[in-house]
Amino acid sequence: MSNQSLLDRRIAAVPRGVGNATNVYAARAENAEIWDVEGKRYVDFAGGIAVLNVGHRHPKVMAAVEKQLAAYTHTAFQVMAYEPYIELAEKLNALAPIEGAAKTIFFTTGAEATENAVKVARAATGRPGIIAFAGGFHGRTALSGAMTGKVNPYKRGLGPFPSHIYHVPLPSATNGITVAESLRALDFLFAADIEPEQIAAFIVEPVQGEGGFHTPDPALFEALEKLREEYGILIIADEVQSGFARTGKMFGIEHQSVKPDLISVAKSLAGGFPLSGLIGRADLMDVIAPGGLGGTYAGSPVACAAALAVLEVIEEEKLLDRANAVGARIRAAVQAAAARNDTLGIANLRGPGAMIGFDVVDGAGKPDAAAAKQVVTRALDKGLVVLTCGTHGAGIRILVPLTASDALIDEGLAILTEALVNEEVAA
Ligand code: PMP
Repeated sequence: MSNQSLLDRRIAAVPRGVGNATNVYAARAENAEIWDVEGKRYVDFAGGIAVLNVGHRHPKVMAAVEKQLAAYTHTAFQVMAYEPYIELAEKLNALAPIEGAAKTIFFTTGAEATENAVKVARAATGRPGIIAFAGGFHGRTALSGAMTGKVNPYKRGLGPFPSHIYHVPLPSATNGITVAESLRALDFLFAADIEPEQIAAFIVEPVQGEGGFHTPDPALFEALEKLREEYGILIIADEVQSGFARTGKMFGIEHQSVKPDLISVAKSLAGGFPLSGLIGRADLMDVIAPGGLGGTYAGSPVACAAALAVLEVIEEEKLLDRANAVGARIRAAVQAAAARNDTLGIANLRGPGAMIGFDVVDGAGKPDAAAAKQVVTRALDKGLVVLTCGTHGAGIRILVPLTASDALIDEGLAILTEALVNEEVAA
């Protein structure tokens, strides 16, 4: 089996609408390494798009899953419920930075988690409006896609999207937008489109993921808290990408003083198994009547067993501290690459913990998406899987498993540095 033969079959059998970051095909993976079908080994700095904070096939996760497989794999939680789901909800309720009592419901994908956050917020407030931030990503389904703040490629030609979803710019030190500008846009919105009393919630990523690893200005959260106080607008933290130790905290929002009302989680929650969840204030979570929430596969017992193991691994292997150490290592390497005179322009190194990104820029200091794409292509060729991000795709983001050894991370960073060498200068 070759990568080329699989690419040919993929092109014939699968729509092109699923964009592939690479044209190599996986055969096996272990912790932070992947081997393709031709036996080539890659260091994995993509982590399945932020899913593998505990790495591929963590032994503890595998053991928990195997145990669960031997007992039962599916009953439908609505038909006959099971302990792993309840235990996981209890654990997340205790961990989440929610004021007062919390409850948790599970789904399968991140998009479902954000959609259900909207359902709960609307039912609890009796209001239709949701305000999201430009550049944010909340999913590809109709409602979550409406909240995703990026037209290309997520919305172009795909409308109409559900109504009453609005966007304002995200204020961040690294995307050039100030809190004042963002709040001014909000004032325009309240003057032109909808009154604040009709807004159910804000949805915000504690660190924008797909949108470019931008951390919102802390003053944004203070402003949102004021609006919550004044108008009763809820705050949804979308932790799908930033959660579970990536930022050096269990939840990215813990870097801010605000306590969100609802938190959507997925990705690294279950270490490679499809599971998402919505954690929220118990009074809000209990508003929707029985039958209004759920899903056939929602909260798969296999995935819940995996997630319980993931939480143990995060604690036992001290992955919050490890995220900070990994992040420091990555920062130092990127800074060293930027200080060389033979690399492409590197700017805006950013992100908390191990959620690190930077932009590839041209001679004039402008984000250069074509160059960033070249970097990830060259890196792949040299044996490193790494992803771009950002509204225009000029960002490089690093989502290496936190369980990777220093030696492996250094190997990946050396490849990344080589891939950043400006071939015109070096030639
Ligand atoms: N929210 C955020 C912050 C995400 O990063 C993503 C996925 N990239 C989603 C929601 C959607 O998750 P899924 O692809 O599992 O539907």
